[in-house]
Amino acid sequence: MKIYIKGIDDERFHRPLRLIGNLFFEETELCFSEGDASLEAEFFIEDNGENVKIKGILRVDGKEYAASKDQQIAADLEGKDRLRVVKNTLSYVYLTILQEYTGIIQKWGILTGIRPTKLYHKKRREGMSEQDIHKMFKEEYLLSDEKIDLMKQIVNRQLQTVPDLDTLSNEVSIYIGIPFCPTKCAYCTFPAYAINGRQGSVTSFLGGLHYEMREIGNWLKRTGIKITTVYYGGGTPTSITAEEMDMLYEEMVTSFPDVEKIREITVEAGRPDTITKEKLDILNKWKIDRISINPQSYIQGTLKAIGRHHTVEETIEKFKLAREMGMNNINMDLIIGLPGEGIEEFDYSLAESAKLMPESLTVHTLSFKRASEMTKNKHKYKVASREEISVMMDHAVKWTKDHGYAPYYLYRQKNILGNLENVGYALEGQDSIYNIMIMEEQQTIIGIGCGAASKFVHPETMKITHFANPKDPKSYNDGFKHYTEEKIKILEELFV
Ligand code: SF4
Repeated sequence: MKIYIKGIDDERFHRPLRLIGNLFFEETELCFSEGDASLEAEFFIEDNGENVKIKGILRVDGKEYAASKDQQIAADLEGKDRLRVVKNTLSYVYLTILQEYTGIIQKWGILTGIRPTKLYHKKRREGMSEQDIHKMFKEEYLLSDEKIDLMKQIVNRQLQTVPDLDTLSNEVSIYIGIPFCPTKCAYCTFPAYAINGRQGSVTSFLGGLHYEMREIGNWLKRTGIKITTVYYGGGTPTSITAEEMDMLYEEMVTSFPDVEKIREITVEAGRPDTITKEKLDILNKWKIDRISINPQSYIQGTLKAIGRHHTVEETIEKFKLAREMGMNNINMDLIIGLPGEGIEEFDYSLAESAKLMPESLTVHTLSFKRASEMTKNKHKYKVASREEISVMMDHAVKWTKDHGYAPYYLYRQKNILGNLENVGYALEGQDSIYNIMIMEEQQTIIGIGCGAASKFVHPETMKITHFANPKDPKSYNDGFKHYTEEKIKILEELFV
């Protein structure tokens, strides 16, 4: 969709205009001359230092839709903070006219590219009351009451699970990335290389991983910095052999400080076709207390269409096996809006989940990530309409509530169907602490292994620095020592 934008010369406003446009139309292109644009949006900005007034008019097919907003700007706001207020005002006006024109109401208002609950926590820490936060989100960000209440519920639940959330910046969590999977799923953009025939590369990758774990562990021991949680993701960390898993967890226990005091260790066992009795024995041996077994859907045709070469029966069978073997904190993921699925199929997956009752259920909404096979061949995949997606989300909310689950974290992504969200639900006391830590960005997450992104949070200023290990095993194997050194350098700057 090409949109002719008038009255906005400052390039810093182009991004918010594009982001808001993308909530309504696929791939918005802004243009600054009339050309062959389908819509015309004109803006008038008056900024007198204390006040900014923005008026917007959308012209289409001879009709006009107009909105305006008058926003006071606090005298002490400068630079980026002041610019943010002006950008938000522009987004507010643009969203309002687009909502009026399309008839689509955006439940998340102008919140794009921001972690909603992180912003909620920030306002809470600044001393705002729940009522004032509600008012702010509703009036300044145009959020629906439903989404504000969801955030409030999540924030309160997180504080119940991690009462010291606000003071955990002096500890770290660790993410360990293992980049192999049995096959690649169509919607996936994670580092996930088909494991078959790559045994040589797996062995050298694990050599680098053990090295990183040892070095990072030594640094933590030396500095006395505690680990809050550890998370093994990827890929599918249970794609490697039971013996390799055994050696890996032994390395963790030897290298990391005070492993018995770590609050939670999760291993994603996402693909049921990687789970065996032998591997579950290893997880038990090393007291791994949380795993994830992901059905995504209980419809066999869907699994085939998205390239997951396992059966629905296998998911159920492996879940039961894990239960029998004593795994008592199992997460399962479902995805709303998988190709070919509508309300009926999603309801079926919820009904099947009721038979298993995992401790937590993460409900994702399908997102078309740029690099995925699904996005590259979008025409091949038929997905549900915006209205159907919204009904499925409502069914997930009702189902989880009826079955004793509560939402405890959420995140939103670009190009997510229906502009909705991904929500983690858990039974009482079963929330994943790692998921809370990664979403709320209250402490450093050290990423180790392939594709592992580190997020360094300064313990006082909370400023975030990113660092990414390479995604492919070959580059990782060539440079793991260098990546380890770089991370330790950043850690030294932050903590020592
Ligand atoms: S199992 Fe997960 S990581 Fe592996 S290919 Fe599928 S979505 Fe990607």
